[in-house]
Amino acid sequence: MRYFLLLLPLLLFEGDAGLFEYRTKNFTVFCRDATLAVQIGEAAEYYRDKHAREWLGHSIPNWYAPCPIRVNAGEYAGGGATTFSFDQGQVFGWDMQVQGTQQSLLESVIPHEVLHTVFASHFRRPLPRWADEGAATYEEDEVEKRPIRELAREVVGTERQIPIRKLLKMQNYPDNMGGIAVLYAQGFYLAEYLIDREGKQEFVHFLETAHQTDWDTAFRTHYGFKNQEAAYTAAWQKHSASDQKLASRYEIRMFTSPDCSKCEEDRRKLLPELRAKGLIVKVLDYDRNLDLARKENVIGLPTYIIYENGKRIAKLRESHALSSLLRRRH
Ligand SMILES: [Zn+2]
Repeated sequence: MRYFLLLLPLLLFEGDAGLFEYRTKNFTVFCRDATLAVQIGEAAEYYRDKHAREWLGHSIPNWYAPCPIRVNAGEYAGGGATTFSFDQGQVFGWDMQVQGTQQSLLESVIPHEVLHTVFASHFRRPLPRWADEGAATYEEDEVEKRPIRELAREVVGTERQIPIRKLLKMQNYPDNMGGIAVLYAQGFYLAEYLIDREGKQEFVHFLETAHQTDWDTAFRTHYGFKNQEAAYTAAWQKHSASDQKLASRYEIRMFTSPDCSKCEEDRRKLLPELRAKGLIVKVLDYDRNLDLARKENVIGLPTYIIYENGKRIAKLRESHALSSLLRRRH
């Protein structure tokens, strides 16, 4: 499942004359757009095999019954939900619903949901949510992963953060959307660190060890951490070090004056935000820096001049333009 949005209710599929059906070996796609039905079926089959080889080290046999994929394509936030049941080590009753634009379906939603099916085929039991969602999110496009990392950083030290010992054991989603988003964010943050460090197959072995023993033993055996807290701390340090490196590339000079109310507002709201990201911001009073202001051709206040690695890259009047410029470059 992807948390971004509750799934839109699908229109009745049975007996729908405008609906195309596309069959592959392991999937049956139901979609109103015939071309997209083929693209999704082929993508699902491709990722099923690719994920199996990358995460498990081998292909998996065809399922005896195909997994239906019900597609709701359109200008919606990408999302999906896959359900299946386990009984005595068997998986059955597959059902996948996906929604979003063509691009988000093919590049993020299908790779994500298909990894859940590969893991279900392999483990044949429910996985702890953080690991299942963390690994599935790892397979999404970078565009989708960035805001999830940001949320993980946002909740650090707040009461919204789920303590590590609780997070690792959770088998179910929290009962509110905010809580679900935090579970995804923290789970992905930790999973990404571990997967980047030792690879996908080691992560699968780590989950097997955790199931047979306990989390502390699994972290010690596969990653050399003395316990889960040590692993979690290392993940945060690694991520914040790379944030820091990125941020220190930029320097921002803000020209202000005491009688400019917009300057005052930005100083209160925007500056703490930028500094919290580790950006260097210098505030310069226009009247006291007249030469520099003229050289930079400052004609209104506030004005922001942005430098990247010492090189002047932009001059902006609007603070929201500044936020979006920095977001794009991060
Ligand atoms: Zn998921």
